[in-house]
Amino acid sequence: MSVNSGRHCLSKIFQPVTIVSKTANLGRQDVTSKSQRLMLELGIIQQAVPGCFHFLPLGMKSLEKLIRIVDSEMLKIEGQKVMFPGLIDSKLWKTSGRLEDSSELFQLKDRHNHDYLLSPTHEEVASELISRLGHISYKHYPLRLYQITVKYRDELKPRFGLMRGREFLMKDMYSFDTDVHSARKTYEEVCQCYDSIFKKIGVGFLKVLGTSGTMGGNLSHEYHYLAHVGEDRILLCQNCNYLANVQLSGSCKCPKCGEQTKLDIKNSIEVGHTFFLGVKYSKSLKAHFLSKNAKPEVLQMGSYGMGLSRLIAASVEVLSTEQEMRWPDSLAPYNIVILPPKAGSKEEAKTKNIAEKLYVALEGQIEGLKDNVLLDDRLSLTLGRRFLDAKRVGYRYIVVINKRAADVVPLFEFNDIKTNTRLYLSENELLTYI
Ligand code: ATP
Ligand code: MG
Ligand code: MG
Ligand code: MG
Repeated sequence: MSVNSGRHCLSKIFQPVTIVSKTANLGRQDVTSKSQRLMLELGIIQQAVPGCFHFLPLGMKSLEKLIRIVDSEMLKIEGQKVMFPGLIDSKLWKTSGRLEDSSELFQLKDRHNHDYLLSPTHEEVASELISRLGHISYKHYPLRLYQITVKYRDELKPRFGLMRGREFLMKDMYSFDTDVHSARKTYEEVCQCYDSIFKKIGVGFLKVLGTSGTMGGNLSHEYHYLAHVGEDRILLCQNCNYLANVQLSGSCKCPKCGEQTKLDIKNSIEVGHTFFLGVKYSKSLKAHFLSKNAKPEVLQMGSYGMGLSRLIAASVEVLSTEQEMRWPDSLAPYNIVILPPKAGSKEEAKTKNIAEKLYVALEGQIEGLKDNVLLDDRLSLTLGRRFLDAKRVGYRYIVVINKRAADVVPLFEFNDIKTNTRLYLSENELLTYI
């Protein structure tokens, strides 16, 4: 098998499954969730210090897919991508009044003894950016700025791998409107956009009434994945379908219909959070616009967070078994893996170049498979061993090239892991199936 052909070959991928067989560097007590263990064992991430992780190539592939989904949906609602700095002047947080509630803040001083913090979220920064523009006309609004950047929070208990990091990747959007009515419309549109993103990811989610906490504002929604290890709790009323974070609703009775007996409380992972903020930050940080009457007025704001690194781990957490990692098709690092026969085997001699031919056909002929096909060219390992590895990493389709590939019309052992199907298919049948 050629190694420098520009193909995705497993033997060349940094820390593939063969290298990482144990949860390296981690004591047992540090592994607190299934997704964390599987992602460490199977070479998706590595821990640097508690709550901070290296994304390895397979993890990056997944993350990039998620970013593409987010970017394409943000574009549909006219989100403009920006990048704010992570190192923030503490005085911004003093101005907004959030510095007092600073238990999760990483704070530091520069060489001139000036106070800075590593931003855990960017409402102040976004507002101050607008105020720097001076008073620009109402005609330039609404404005929707978003970024995908690292956030820092000195979490009390960093755990569950990527799900509760101290450094993590967030997609955050900040909206600015000239009046409450238009700001509410924006809020609804962004919520719909979030619905689309979560639907595209393909893991079942719940949208619930959320808590505004220290963020402020008077309306918020949270997006959750139900999972046993989730640190949030969701109240579901089977009588009226009311859904809320229990922090908001207490739990003895449904705040909407008063029902007391048909209430369900489930553990969940918060994967996204939207806030209608009003003028909480724009007022103190002077994010103004110039009205039709040429008067400076305060902008109405919304803030919308989505934990991208958490989302990847949470998806794996929800879908995997204890032994085998499973991905939503949308986020799997690769969707299909081809296993050529072991080096020196009879099958190898009889099926020369068939794997490469199939690889090229899949990549070239099937929409969406470009860069999504992996060749497991660790040819010193048996097919059986590589099949188990592929199943553990959770590639949706596994194509085994065994002796049937030497038939006059070559047949491939085609495995659909999701539906637990095994078939022998010709190249054409295989392309059609996928
Ligand atoms: P949590 O309740 O889990 O502490 P949060 O309510 O503090 O989260 P937000 O401030 O609403 O989080 O941030 C927006 C999103 O960022 C969250 O919905 C979540 O997806 C993600 N997020 C928050 N904290 C972390 C973290 N420590 N590690 C990874 N992702 C996080
Ligand atoms: Mg938090
Ligand atoms: Mg929360
Ligand atoms: Mg939240």
